[in-house]
Amino acid sequence: MTYCLYDARGYVGDLASIHGLNLMSDYVTTITNEPQVKKFFEAGQATITKELIAGFKAIHSPDKDIADTIDNLVNLLSKCDTIAIISDGVGIECPELTIHRGTHEIGGSCVELCSSSGNTRLILDIGIPLVNADRSSFDWGTHRKSTLSELRVKKILPAVDGLYESDKPEVTAVLLSHAHLDHYGFLRFVHPDIPIYMSIGTKALTEVSNAFLDTSVKIENIKTFEMWKTFRVGEFAITPYLMDHSAPDAAAFLIEGDRQRIFYTGDFRGHGRKGVLLDRLTKDAPPDINYLIMEGSMLGREEGLYSDETSVEQALYDLILSQKGICYVFTSSQNLDRLVSIYRAARRSGKTLVIDLYTAFVLDKLSIISPSVPQFKWEGIRVLYSYHHAQKLADLDKKLLYKYKTSKIEFEEILDKPDDKVLLAKDSRYFRNVIIKLRESGKATAVFSMWHGYLEKSNLQEFLESNGIPLVEIHTSGHAYVSQLQMLVNAMKPRWIIPIHTFYPEKFKEMFPNVIQLNDDETISL
Ligand SMILES: [Zn+2]
Repeated sequence: MTYCLYDARGYVGDLASIHGLNLMSDYVTTITNEPQVKKFFEAGQATITKELIAGFKAIHSPDKDIADTIDNLVNLLSKCDTIAIISDGVGIECPELTIHRGTHEIGGSCVELCSSSGNTRLILDIGIPLVNADRSSFDWGTHRKSTLSELRVKKILPAVDGLYESDKPEVTAVLLSHAHLDHYGFLRFVHPDIPIYMSIGTKALTEVSNAFLDTSVKIENIKTFEMWKTFRVGEFAITPYLMDHSAPDAAAFLIEGDRQRIFYTGDFRGHGRKGVLLDRLTKDAPPDINYLIMEGSMLGREEGLYSDETSVEQALYDLILSQKGICYVFTSSQNLDRLVSIYRAARRSGKTLVIDLYTAFVLDKLSIISPSVPQFKWEGIRVLYSYHHAQKLADLDKKLLYKYKTSKIEFEEILDKPDDKVLLAKDSRYFRNVIIKLRESGKATAVFSMWHGYLEKSNLQEFLESNGIPLVEIHTSGHAYVSQLQMLVNAMKPRWIIPIHTFYPEKFKEMFPNVIQLNDDETISL
């Protein structure tokens, strides 16, 4: 068996550090890919075990800690037949990577990459957590009124100096992977002088959320990027990759510079409407990736009943077609893939999709990313006005109220002919009132088309049942299955994989030999 001992953090040279040695033992990994090890030997970056053991044995330290550490190291080395000590270049300054949050949880993602000179500091995502330290669900509402410094003291905001509005701005830029709040929700606290890079779709959704969901994203200093077009931020070159995810226009980032090539996946999958993107990425993966920072949301989770978006559309179609009476579909208006599936299923069954003003606005804003995003004026789409949504829209731009009016549907029209209506619903007081008001229209059915966890947290099912409405779940995940994670790793062949956005980072080690499992706020030299 061949082992490879990577000295990625300079710990071999730092023998006084017992802590370092413990960490280093994590780096002893079985290498199945022989040519990779050979490559290091050929490059003169590796040393043979025997010489190394002899070298260490020759060191005699009066300091007990150091002597123990040397003993431990020699024992560790003796266990391996062939050792490659891959030098990270002692004395050479290295860029540093810190995952401020996300090493052991889904949500609240925040990654920092600092160049070796210290002159370029990038923040990748700045999300609101989904869970507290004890894994109970995080409720932003209870902290909303806290000041910036209180949020920092409570460790709700990631500990990044020079990022927030009360600091002297020292972060070079923030890069957002996609418009999910667990990736951008804390943007409101970022210093206004720091530029925020995002895709045009992400920008559109942050604007929508500002108007409707009180996300308070600063929009003065946004710079939009184009997918696959490299741009520079300080000492790094960044290439965004369009990824298949439940948020439209989601990006992964290839970050090059400082002798490193890093790939941050953001959130992704390969079974949505843009699943082909994962196929393309694996067929033409960027080479020589040193560090792959990869999400692992699906580890420890069931894959669910529906394996992809196509089967979701088919199941919706089957149900809508056979349904007598109105059909309520509960989903997120920002999950574009799902809206398209619902629209297509409704059209194929000859029924009209009724959306609310907020959804009409989301789709309107997303028309910027593609002409195939369904629009309020398309055949088979009608818009239900609510006072609350109309108010929000009017605050933003009164003209929009008139714009969507051409597709407005009145309540009476739904009541009159409920059989040919599919109503996009939310678990909100407004929609519960709508459902109660439509009770007299007769039979109805409901579809929950979101992550099952949200249903568990709500009494929606009881509410619907008490109104005689059966609920079925039709959903597929926004995140990559284990097989898709493996597919990406096999194609990319990164030197190291760093887990993020997962409750089970240790499961990465069961799948891959070259995993660096970090803790929140732990900094590593690359
Ligand atoms: Zn996401």
